[in-house]
Amino acid sequence: MSGASPQGSARILDGKALAASVRADVKQSVERLATRGVRPGLAVILAGEDPASRVYVRNKVRACEETGVRSFLYEYPASVGENELLERVASLNSDPAVHGILVQLPLPKHLDGARILRAVSPSKDVDGFHEANLGALLAGTPRFVACTPAGVLRLIDHAGVELAGRRAVVIGRSTIVGKPLALLLLQRDATVTICHSRTRDMASVCREADVLVAAVGRAKLVGAAMVKPGACVIDVGVNRLPDGSLAGDVDFDAVKDVAGFITPVPGGVGPMTIAMLLENCLHAAEIQSAP
Ligand code: NAP
Repeated sequence: MSGASPQGSARILDGKALAASVRADVKQSVERLATRGVRPGLAVILAGEDPASRVYVRNKVRACEETGVRSFLYEYPASVGENELLERVASLNSDPAVHGILVQLPLPKHLDGARILRAVSPSKDVDGFHEANLGALLAGTPRFVACTPAGVLRLIDHAGVELAGRRAVVIGRSTIVGKPLALLLLQRDATVTICHSRTRDMASVCREADVLVAAVGRAKLVGAAMVKPGACVIDVGVNRLPDGSLAGDVDFDAVKDVAGFITPVPGGVGPMTIAMLLENCLHAAEIQSAP
């Protein structure tokens, strides 16, 4: 593993700065596309009043504006019917100004989220959640990769952390973060273990990790005793503490003294997720407008 600080002071992986440089690259590519009369367009479907979802969507729309990607926001009350959303998705699938479609999760409980995600055209599935895109990743021929796992990989690569032949442990097995991330790490020749709520003696599994990723949603689940000295620790978790502040799944203050690399929350994985979404939109527009 290269570039780690001496033990006692992990190098902090600045997702905010890396995301800014990705956004700048996307902006340049968007300007190049404009010379061919193409402007990438992202449609966002937001149903319900979840405050965190509203913040995420606002940040995504703002990032689109900054980079020249056109955004189309469709907001619905929590009571929206499934057919109404399916009809909206169908019309966006055939809209040539829309290159990417994002259905903000979680959807209200009465809706069949899987059915709605399946309705999105795989070629416009910039979130990478469609079964066809998840399957392509499994088959080793990824097209649109889910944004958070893609952002995690970009952070690891940017830090210069080797993956081939190394032990990677992912805590969390969701379809949108843990499982696709494990597949990406496997594709890069890491030896991958996935932990979940039924894993026994998770601390000893985690202590073997050269790269440890926490994607759980439990504040400070990962303490210093779970981390191998010098490891690269990536914190995907976003947890709201009783005082209103945000915390990751990793006990940052304790783990930074053991790890070689660590991401902060906020300012680590979160900004990278949005940056990868913009990249996916750009690629979707490039593919759909190819002569
Ligand atoms: P999720 O669907 O709730 O999955 C959580 C996973 O954690 C499950 O696989 C669960 O295991 C596992 N888990 C729960 N308690 C555990 C424990 N005590 N020990 C070990 N594993 C445990 O969550 P998600 O959507 O993947 O999101 C995970 C976290 O990442 C959340 O905090 C979310 O807010 C955050 N997130 C951040 C971004 C970003 O851009 N920064 C993006 C997406 C998600 P089982 O499968 O056995 O139940």
